[in-house]
Amino acid sequence: MPFNALNFSAGPGALPASVLAQTREAIVELPDTGLSVLGMSHRSDWFRALLDEADCNIRDLLGLPDRYEVVFLQGGSSLLFATIPMNFATPQHAAPEYVTSGYWSARATAEAARVGPQRVAWDGSADGYRSLPALQTLDVDSDAAYLHFVSNETVEGLQFAESACFPADVPLIVDMSSDFLSKPIVTDRFSIVYAHAQKNLGPAGVSIAVIDRSMLERIPCGLPAILDFRTHVTHRSNYNTPPVFAIYVLTLVTRWLRDDIGGLAAMERINKAKAQRIYSTLDDLGDLVHVHAKTPWRSQMNVAFTLGSPQLDRTFIEVARERGFVGLDGHRSLGGLRASLYNAVTPEAVDALCEALTEFCRKHA
Ligand code: PMP
Repeated sequence: MPFNALNFSAGPGALPASVLAQTREAIVELPDTGLSVLGMSHRSDWFRALLDEADCNIRDLLGLPDRYEVVFLQGGSSLLFATIPMNFATPQHAAPEYVTSGYWSARATAEAARVGPQRVAWDGSADGYRSLPALQTLDVDSDAAYLHFVSNETVEGLQFAESACFPADVPLIVDMSSDFLSKPIVTDRFSIVYAHAQKNLGPAGVSIAVIDRSMLERIPCGLPAILDFRTHVTHRSNYNTPPVFAIYVLTLVTRWLRDDIGGLAAMERINKAKAQRIYSTLDDLGDLVHVHAKTPWRSQMNVAFTLGSPQLDRTFIEVARERGFVGLDGHRSLGGLRASLYNAVTPEAVDALCEALTEFCRKHA
């Protein structure tokens, strides 16, 4: 396998080989500019054109209706956990509602509680975050400022299905950090979608928020400018110095998704096949393996599992590392193993992992 090919890390994750090759070149000199991307001014025409292209590519990939704004932000998804309630949990509405379905949504819920009143609409901690709720059946106040949920729980490996139904009468805000641009989404249903780049879109350092413009009218006056979404919309993502390099790599990834993969429906087919391959391998291993998520909610992006004992998990990680696999450790809060199958993880890499797992389990059973 070529260098970088067996990266199953949960994030920052694998990037496409062609994007890495272009990035290597751009660090020395961007085509037709005579400058390294690392020394390119954020006020240059080149960067304005790049931001416009990134915006346009994301709109095209998602098929975004005109009423949405796309902004590129810093501070990761954790800053958005705070700025979303600061901007949108307004006193004219009832408290925002939070679905707590795993490690990251629990962090979002806790952060909202630091900003003001919030209500937990569902809490999956009692069964160790192994399942997800039917969102349309939750008892959500129709006057709530919004309902927040995480579409893919990166740590536990739980994901809402494309066919999931959502409550109709409350604005939906969704953290898609670990499955954004991995499949098509019906954007229409969401008031805000946000994600950081370091899973499927590029390196760490930039996040994206897709915002229904009507939500901007709710923002209270008096927020610090940098924390107010309107600032970033008005300045077209160039208010202070944006992460030029991260936005450059992200733009290359959007081109790769469009030109090499053929769009999000094609990406979804590839991702589904990868997930099917690994889950069927794990299921075939029977009692030797335990997948954390209950079957209907298994994630196509993060497969959290254990070989039954911390000792065996550790031995597998060591054996796999000798063969070039990286990033297979489970999250520190859950332990065990986790294989992340983001867009740039190839089917060949997944085949190699499945073979290594089967061989290891046969030997150690
Ligand atoms: N949400 C989800 C779903 C995540 O997976 C993560 C991090 N892995 C975060 C939020 C936090 O992101 P950040 O590190 O960019 O703050």
